[in-house]
Amino acid sequence: MDKLIAIIEDEPDIIELVSINLKKASFQVEGFESAESFLRTLKKRQPDLIILDLMLPDMDGYEVCKALKSQKRYASIPIIMLTARAEETEKILGLELGADDYVTKPFSPKELVARVKAVLRRHSPKTDESIQLNIGEKIFIDTEKLEVTVNNKKIDLTPTEFKILNLLASKKGIVFSREAILEHLWGNEKIVIDRTIDVHIKHLREKLGDEARFIKNIRGMGYKIEE
Ligand code: CA
Repeated sequence: MDKLIAIIEDEPDIIELVSINLKKASFQVEGFESAESFLRTLKKRQPDLIILDLMLPDMDGYEVCKALKSQKRYASIPIIMLTARAEETEKILGLELGADDYVTKPFSPKELVARVKAVLRRHSPKTDESIQLNIGEKIFIDTEKLEVTVNNKKIDLTPTEFKILNLLASKKGIVFSREAILEHLWGNEKIVIDRTIDVHIKHLREKLGDEARFIKNIRGMGYKIEE
């Protein structure tokens, strides 16, 4: 699938100009005229790169950058800042907050497209990303270290609880019957009864606290994770 670039910029003309040029270079583009409208859609689909204007009507571009970089889920999305101010100190500030590149207005759209490609090249491939699964914004599952963190705190799960959570999180929205979960845990050697799963899920929920709300019990069917 083509990479998705989000552009947050309050001047529609600039959004249009950048969009046309990025689309020509086979990118998908979504434009947002305020930080708020962008942040609202972020949960649904994450862009592969963000072009962020420094001066926005509702929020400072720096604040948006800082907010994204402070959340594990979004921290790895590269950001190119657009600014009309060229002062060196601001460049430094932007880079300290984790922006990956800087483009000063007025800019040539071709130059911006070239920068987008360069930043994306630098960012891929991300070998350690595929092993991180998330549920909502606070639960992270590290499938290599076999660790689960909630609110940045590691929680102690039994191997069975871990396997169940990992299974559900690997296919969000899909309902797993108790039978299917047992099969996944013990293959053909299952000697335990269906209700065992309910006990594991109960413990798992206790350990996840408030975040356990993502684990849904579908009556008569089984369990699933729904965000
Ligand atoms: Ca602006």
